[in-house]
Amino acid sequence: MRTFTRPPIAALALALLALPARAQAPAGGYVVNDSHFHLTNYVQQGTDIHDFLKIMGTKVGRVALFGIPLQQTWSYGNTGDFAPTYYLQTDAPLYYYSFTDAFIAMAYRSLTKDEQARFDPMITGFNPADMYAADHIKRVLQTFPGVFSGIGEFTIHKEFVSSKIAGETASLVNPALDRILDFAGEAGLVVILHNDVDMPFPKPGQDPYQAAQLGALFRRHPKTQIIWAHCGLGRIVRPVKDQLGIVDRALADPSLSHLSIDISWDEVAKYLVATPEATRAAADLINHHPDRFLFGTDEVAPTEQAKYLKVYDMYAPLFALLTPEASEKVRKGNYERLFDQARRRVREWEGAHPR
Ligand SMILES: [Zn+2]
Repeated sequence: MRTFTRPPIAALALALLALPARAQAPAGGYVVNDSHFHLTNYVQQGTDIHDFLKIMGTKVGRVALFGIPLQQTWSYGNTGDFAPTYYLQTDAPLYYYSFTDAFIAMAYRSLTKDEQARFDPMITGFNPADMYAADHIKRVLQTFPGVFSGIGEFTIHKEFVSSKIAGETASLVNPALDRILDFAGEAGLVVILHNDVDMPFPKPGQDPYQAAQLGALFRRHPKTQIIWAHCGLGRIVRPVKDQLGIVDRALADPSLSHLSIDISWDEVAKYLVATPEATRAAADLINHHPDRFLFGTDEVAPTEQAKYLKVYDMYAPLFALLTPEASEKVRKGNYERLFDQARRRVREWEGAHPR
């Protein structure tokens, strides 16, 4: 990775260049917080965190920081000398790469206190089909106290990915997942869960079983703060019939008051701002539940601010239709409420459970 190969002179130059960006927050405050960001990619390479601070610049205040829990195998038997960097590039399986948690923790620890305050690192390096996964999460907190605010993004059902993971296929009805969410509730960890709302290319009339199983899962863990990533949408997984109505009723249901939704990923923005009518409908939904939606980028290892904030720019027509209160909460306030509470609660749990 670049971090380890960069010559010292270049590193010094970068550090000097970084000085202005590390100055105080802009007078008007930052524009947005990012609730969904991957520092590293499917082969565990990515942006040096000090460079990423410069990319955040004066625009992005705080970031929920994680790698990717899955590693794409470079299987010589499958692709020979071709070294894949993305899960769709080969037929080789993915596997859970737990070292990502130590990598993220050490990147965070390389920052100054003021810089650390801008990140909420997340634990992702566990297999959600493993009854021991909750023990891994606990062990990470006790090994790196003072670092993590949550778990995720981790995935149960995701188009094209879930079926490529080695070992038992994850499921919403696996008690291993209940153990994870129970522990997150006990320790105060925010959960970012990716679960598609439907399968790719469903047959007409095919029941989207995921929506019902998700509702049951969320209701089994009322003490756990859960962010449903991307509102369940994907590259191919489209909004199901009456998706906005389903989300509207779920957010109005008192038994789901611990559920929030992130609108991260350019694939999601593509649906939400597809037409003026779609944008209006999404804005109405958010204005109706201003405390329940969070902006996120879902960018992976960006190299420049324009690319990093592409999704933010795509959402300009949506933000323009939000009330001033909803706009502020979706861009910043909801992030601060959820993650401030998580920081406080997780530090308390760590203090009560030293290694
Ligand atoms: Zn993501």
